[in-house]
Parts: sequence; structure tokens; C-alpha cells
Amino acid sequence: MLTPESVDDLHCDAVRALSFAACDDALSTREFVAIEAHLHRCVRCRNRYLSDAVFLRATRNAVALDSAPQSLRDRVAHILQPRAAENASA
Ligand SMILES: [Zn+2]
Repeated sequence: MLTPESVDDLHCDAVRALSFAACDDALSTREFVAIEAHLHRCVRCRNRYLSDAVFLRATRNAVALDSAPQSLRDRVAHILQPRAAENASA
């Protein structure tokens, strides 16, 4: 996580380390604004950020397409239900 002092002077290593978090809306507004400012002036980090965004979107789409059918999810939930009750009483 960035400190308030480090946000104003981001270097490429810090931006690239936070690239996925920025794509995933997992940063504070201050952090995102600092990264966005860096991306405007650094083409290498901007290309990395865009690549991470494409990868993240493709991963989410693949996961959505490969979700288990509802009948399987219902059976797994049914199987796990007694165990959840056992764990709650232990
Ligand atoms: Zn950079």
C-alpha cells in the first residue's frame, strides 16, 4: 500500500506492482489518481496497465463461461450442508 508521501512521486516499479489492483478498482482514489497521472507520462507503464486490463477482462469472461451448472451447485450445497451444521455445533 502506498503512503501519502509516496503517492506523489510514483516510480515505474510501484505503478507496475499496483497495475492489477488499479484495473480491479481496488485502490484508493488518491492512489488511482497518482497512477493515472503516471500513466499519462509513461508509455511503458500505460502499455502494461492496458495489457493487465485486457487479461483481467478475459479472465473474468472465461470464469463466467465456465461456471458449474445450477444442478451441480445444488448437489454440492446439499452435500456440504450437514458438514456446515456439524462445524457450527463443534
Ligand atoms: Zn512508468
